[in-house]
Amino acid sequence: MIWNKEYECMDRKSLEDLQLKRLKEVAHRVFERLLFYKRKFEESHLHPDDIKSLEDLRKFPFTRKSDLREGYPFGLFTAPLEKIVEFHISSGTTGKPVVNGYTRKDIQIWAEVMARALSCAGTTSRDVVHNAYGYGLFTGGLGTHYGAQLIGAKTIPISGGQTKRQITIMQDFKSTVLTCTPSYALHIAEVAEEMGINPRDLPLRVGILGAETWSESMRQEIESRLGIEALDIYGLTEIIGPGVAQECEVKEGMHLFEDHFLPEIIDPKTGKVLKEGEEGELVLTTLTREGTSLVRYRTGDITHINYQPCECGRTLARIGKIKGRADDMLIIRGVNLFPSQIENILIQIDEAEPHYQLILERRKGLDELTVELETSPHIFFDEVRRLEEIEAKIKREIEDALGLRIGVKLVEPRTIQRSMGKAKRIIDKRKLK
Ligand code: ADP
Ligand code: ZN
Repeated sequence: MIWNKEYECMDRKSLEDLQLKRLKEVAHRVFERLLFYKRKFEESHLHPDDIKSLEDLRKFPFTRKSDLREGYPFGLFTAPLEKIVEFHISSGTTGKPVVNGYTRKDIQIWAEVMARALSCAGTTSRDVVHNAYGYGLFTGGLGTHYGAQLIGAKTIPISGGQTKRQITIMQDFKSTVLTCTPSYALHIAEVAEEMGINPRDLPLRVGILGAETWSESMRQEIESRLGIEALDIYGLTEIIGPGVAQECEVKEGMHLFEDHFLPEIIDPKTGKVLKEGEEGELVLTTLTREGTSLVRYRTGDITHINYQPCECGRTLARIGKIKGRADDMLIIRGVNLFPSQIENILIQIDEAEPHYQLILERRKGLDELTVELETSPHIFFDEVRRLEEIEAKIKREIEDALGLRIGVKLVEPRTIQRSMGKAKRIIDKRKLK
């Protein structure tokens, strides 16, 4: 189901021509409207007219999250304030929140890219979209809502929380498409089981899950427990919210809506643009946004890009599953790793539940990592030897896979806090100065 064949299946040459035309417009817009960009361009001795090809963008300076924080709240809009009709503010997972201001046209763009995203999962006007992303300042709820409305699907704006009620509503209203974070999808399965309902019997067919990192093993877990296809969606408040990229049913990466957002993958250390397939930080330039236009915004998210046309018929490039945020990379005794790599292993452990936290501490000047993981309910918590065996097994598996010895602590079922939105995976107890 392709929402907008004209743009989603464009041949690369036409797409690049369109991107270049739009890139020139956006460079002019930010230069003329924001002193911030004017100064930044001038410091690099650049002018918007220096963009003659897409490659010319590489000469331009990056925009960072800290730049946006300084502009809080109204400082970075690229449309007059009277044209702004909506604000969204990031959840602030990694510090002071950032703001996005949308004009009416921006809201239409958002609806369009979200309609494409939902269509990637086969959503049509016959579907009932159970939207459990949080409504409010978080972009997940309203972004999904606008897309579902544009398709003409039946939207249930349930937001997060009151999970039992969610399940009853799913049954009564025959919800077919579930939109929420992957961790909340798992929690829905867990609560359904507690209610004596087999989650596979719920009418759900597909999940459009995102807003946090999740591993392939987590996908399999969700798919088998809920009996659905679980597809990945990516976005961020700074750019628009959800709807920057979406996985199609082929499940080999997320199609990035390149006619609206221009991607680059860079080496986070040197800033150099990397080749297709190489892993690095995703950098995005908005091509059509009015209220908040950004040039070379460093997302902090680590992935790679693939420009090959997809079996689904779309020609839009695909980004791989987000490995994590550059900020979330842990360096434990010289080994670099992302929480998602640990998750991938933990979820395959039969004796444990897919609920975990990573506790980071500093002992004698060294960083120590301990995984806290819930045991399965069928394991009795007083069988000390059994618990020790399982802990040792998990340690071994992590050591084999990642070459790193870490602590493992099993905790009782339901002791790790469940999240209605983004799960908190890392508890940093290091007292860094
Ligand atoms: P915050 O940075 O406060 O969490 P947002 O709510 O805007 O703000 O979240 C955007 C961020 O969420 C992205 O930059 C990315 O790190 C993460 N994210 C969003 N979608 C995904 C996804 N599908 N996979 C992994 N991470 C994601
Ligand atoms: Zn595809």
